[in-house]
Amino acid sequence: MSYFEKLRNDFPILQEQVNGKNLVYFDNGATAQKPQIVLDELAHYYTKLNANIHRGVHTLSQEATSKYEEARKKIQSYLNAEFEEEIIFTKGTTDGINLIANGFSRGVLKTGDEVIISAMEHHSNIVPWQMACEHSGAVLKVIPISDEGELLMEDYKALLNDNTKLVAITHVSNTLGSINPVKEIIELAHKNGTPVLIDGAQSVPHMKVDVRELNADFYALSAHKMYGPTGVGVLYGKKEWLNKLPPYQGGGDMIKTVTFEKTTYNDLPHKFEAGTPNIAGGIVMGGLIDYLEKIDWQKVAIHEDELLEYATSQIKEIEGIRVVGEAKHKAGVLSFVHESIHHYDIGTLLDQMGVAIRTGHHCTEPLMDRMGVTGTARASFAFYNTKEEVEYFIKSLKRALRMLG
Ligand code: PMP
Repeated sequence: MSYFEKLRNDFPILQEQVNGKNLVYFDNGATAQKPQIVLDELAHYYTKLNANIHRGVHTLSQEATSKYEEARKKIQSYLNAEFEEEIIFTKGTTDGINLIANGFSRGVLKTGDEVIISAMEHHSNIVPWQMACEHSGAVLKVIPISDEGELLMEDYKALLNDNTKLVAITHVSNTLGSINPVKEIIELAHKNGTPVLIDGAQSVPHMKVDVRELNADFYALSAHKMYGPTGVGVLYGKKEWLNKLPPYQGGGDMIKTVTFEKTTYNDLPHKFEAGTPNIAGGIVMGGLIDYLEKIDWQKVAIHEDELLEYATSQIKEIEGIRVVGEAKHKAGVLSFVHESIHHYDIGTLLDQMGVAIRTGHHCTEPLMDRMGVTGTARASFAFYNTKEEVEYFIKSLKRALRMLG
């Protein structure tokens, strides 16, 4: 059995049929499937361990707490963060970005300051910054992109100035697949004295990320896109920054003392973790990290590149199809449109054939405007996908187009 066949067998849902056909799951950009270890750990937690954390003297509470904190350490080591308190558990990428945007709008940004994002951002890396700017009087600046879907780095350099207080950029575009040169982006921002937040929602499923090597100030990710459960994620933040920012939400766990006159806040990471968290999700992330640690990410990159190249070359031969997003460095995302057939109809017919893809604007409406489309059909790959699945997808797509044409 090949390396990837073995990995594929870890994901029980991939043996399922949908609409009477073997499932071909190409909607990994929306959420990835879960390996058996994640399913087992979830069941184990609720069957054997369920208790609230950080506040109980009883055995279950202490065991759950230590598993939860162990998971934090595993994530710290996986991302190569310097301190475990730099790992904040969140609901996901959106939550992590909102945490920082909220902190910046209340604690850093002033009238006339500037925040830089890019034209290929997901709504969750646009709207929180618009809200932060609206609240603080800061101004949002946008790095333009080329027709191929690459950031225009000269324009980025020109945007950086004394007023730039934050740069927030996606590592990998969920719609175009472009892998952005985040290390260079961070270096340039730091030369300007500006911190950088990286939206890592779409990078961590495809590559191993080292936050210290990148020198990112903040890095947000969602467990569900990296083969874990929904409703949990991680925000990495450099300690000095997290200490400077005000807390995001108030409530239990994030305080040291409370009186009606004055509340003092807890230390990191608890300062940013108000209320009962997704305990099961956090603990399961620990098991997930053990699983991801064993994956050969170099092999994954080669395999996913092969899938993408094969799918791209095949799809380009189909009359009337245009690929949207042709950056030189791409992760396994293939967005396309047809000159006369709506992407929604393509997605619906493919679903009947057992192929799950995503259609629509992918929460990137400004990007759709930039690329001159209202939406796209998007196939997004994970390491468990196969060349045979790509072949079936292309065959099914041709059939769907014949039926709709
Ligand atoms: N950023 C990017 C690039 C994404 O693809 C997504 C999810 N589609 C998000 C942010 C938001 O992630 P979540 O919905 O898990 O918070």
